[in-house]
Amino acid sequence: MNCNCRDVETGTYSNQIKLKAPDWSSHEFICVDACLKEEILNLWNSGIITLGCCCGHNYSLPFINIAEEHISRAIEMGYIMQTNPLSYENGDKRKDTFYPKSIDVNPKMFENFINHYISVGMFKLK
Ligand SMILES: [Zn+2]
Repeated sequence: MNCNCRDVETGTYSNQIKLKAPDWSSHEFICVDACLKEEILNLWNSGIITLGCCCGHNYSLPFINIAEEHISRAIEMGYIMQTNPLSYENGDKRKDTFYPKSIDVNPKMFENFINHYISVGMFKLK
């Protein structure tokens, strides 16, 4: 499905909902994008620790970050790792970022994603 966000500015929290945090969290509540609520709850119910997520707001790439110890389980569950040229940390390619299953990805999202990083000066165009 497409996410339900319309005109939600990336980086804002206007389409978030508050969920009761699972036992593994040190927080009482965790806020997630409303579009990802069911999928995140399903992951939590499966014992998967999530570290962050964004539905992409129909603009940029949606993602779910999954705890290191649960990466192989996420792959077993059919999650596809999101590799991109920006996902380097300490020289290692990050492996904790996955595409949500419940949100459709389109080419414009990749374009917007890359253009954002160009606009903040991470890449120089030749
Ligand atoms: Zn959304």
